[in-house]
Order: sequence, then C-alpha cells, then structure tokens
Amino acid sequence: MSELGLLNEQSAVRRIVLGDVRLTYVVDGAMALTAGGFFPAVPGEYWRAHPEAVDAEGRIAMSAGGLLVERDGRKLLVDAGLGPYRGDLSVGEEPFGGADSGAMPEVLAELGVAPEDIDAVAFTHLHVDHVGWAFKDGRKFFPNARYLVAAEEWAPHEHGITVPGVIAEMTVVPMRGNHELIREGEEVWPGVRAVVTPGHTPGHSSFIVDSGVGRIIAFGDAFHAPAQITHPEWGSRPDTDSDGVLKARTRLLGGVGAARHSRLRHPLRRPGLRSCGAGRGRGADLAAGRRGVRPGDASVALGR
Ligand SMILES: [Zn+2]
Repeated sequence: MSELGLLNEQSAVRRIVLGDVRLTYVVDGAMALTAGGFFPAVPGEYWRAHPEAVDAEGRIAMSAGGLLVERDGRKLLVDAGLGPYRGDLSVGEEPFGGADSGAMPEVLAELGVAPEDIDAVAFTHLHVDHVGWAFKDGRKFFPNARYLVAAEEWAPHEHGITVPGVIAEMTVVPMRGNHELIREGEEVWPGVRAVVTPGHTPGHSSFIVDSGVGRIIAFGDAFHAPAQITHPEWGSRPDTDSDGVLKARTRLLGGVGAARHSRLRHPLRRPGLRSCGAGRGRGADLAAGRRGVRPGDASVALGR
C-alpha cells in the first residue's frame, strides 16, 4: 500500500473506507486527452499551472474504470470501464486523444472479486467508456448483477434516437430486457441513491453512497476534471447540453453536496486516497509514458 496523490497516475487502484462501506476505484485503463480537443473552454494557463493533471506528453491524464462499493458482503459496481480497447478517442471525425484499456477483470481478480460476485451495476450513463465490460459476446459480463440505468438515459433508445458516444449494438441491444430503469431519488442499492443529473447525456446520473458516517458522490461525467469544480462553466466536448451540465454541476456542488458530511469523489481520479497497488496493467504503460496510444487501431466516438 502506498499513498498516491497525483491526478496523472491513471492506473492506480484507490480505496477508501467510510463507516461500514468500502469503496475501491477499479481501473480499467488510461485515457489521455488533448486539452484543446476535450476541454475547449479551459484556458491553457490552467493546465500549465496544474502539471499534476497532465501526462508526459502534455495531454490531460484520465482513466476509465468503475467504483466498487462493498457493504455487508454485497458488491455494487458503478460503471464498467471502457473495455478492451487501444486507439483514438474522437468527437465525430476529430480525435481528441486516446485510450489503452481493458484491465478491469484482471484488477477485480487481484482484489479477490469475480464477475459473479457483483450483485448490481449502476451506470451513470451509457457512453462507451462507462459500459465497456457490461457485456461480452452479447452476454452480461457480471451474470448475477442487476443492471441499473436511469429512465431518462434509456428513453432516447426506445424512440430510435441516436445519442452521441453510445454504440447501440454494444450496449443498447444486449441490455434490452436485461436492465432495470431507475428514477431520481430512488434507493437503488442499500444506502445508495440515484440523482439524475442530465446534461452530459440525456439521463446522466450520479450516485450518493451514504455510509451513515459520511457520503460519497460518484458523479460520473458531470465533472471530468477538478478544474470544473472551481469553474463549473467550463464544459467538456462530449456534453450534449451545456446548460444542463452547468445545472447538474451546480446541483452537485450545492444542494446535494452541501450536507454536513458530504464529500465529493470523482470516480476516475481522486488525489490522496490509498492505493492497493493493483492494476498495473496495460494502462500503466501509458501513464508512465513508456508507450503512447497507438492511433489508427480503431476509433471510439464519445461525442457529437
Ligand atoms: Zn461520458
């Protein structure tokens, strides 16, 4: 176990215990995004002043993964990573970085967790980098888990509406009939409540984990970087509704986050938590700058 504190340590598995709840960030892989491409509204001087957020090649360091919530022997996973993928990430035809991913099963195994052990997977939204391990060969990768999606997130797909960043064949088709719709305020798992925060996608949701002695908010892609906590008006390229995102951020930072014991936790990166040292998989190479993302293998569209 070692202390890790930098945002650009993308392959760290981080853990926090809060009362009777244990939360572990299960990394799937590393993502590295161009500042101008993904965060067009964030001024360049911000990144120059925050080198801890940038990788060796000057790209914004991020990761894909999920948040494992354990309580009373039960296991909830919030989001399911990007899945096995190495290549560009793009908005339409325009690449804004890349990813090197696919370590989640290996990391779970190192944590002593089998896919069968997960009893629920709650999706913040259906973008490709949050559903990567939901299905494998058309079957649920977590066979005993309830798959939970906000009704507002699912609704466009019932009407044949394309949502940028969602690959219907990969997610919507196999999920149909295998999922449960959840709603604003619903307790979706013991001590975990859904907060529907649309904007990034039509029904993006955050999840509040209440341990009794403190709360963690898994806010998905309502925020992509700490910069957006101090500047909630700084959007991200894939956001589908910038006014909605601003409302969501304001709500999470204000009404939801103002309770006495609340604390925010970004499911992708959070400085200062402990690492159990697992997850030194493919993503670690990218984080260490030994191997760059190889463009051209494939392309994943995250935005419009
Ligand atoms: Zn997203």
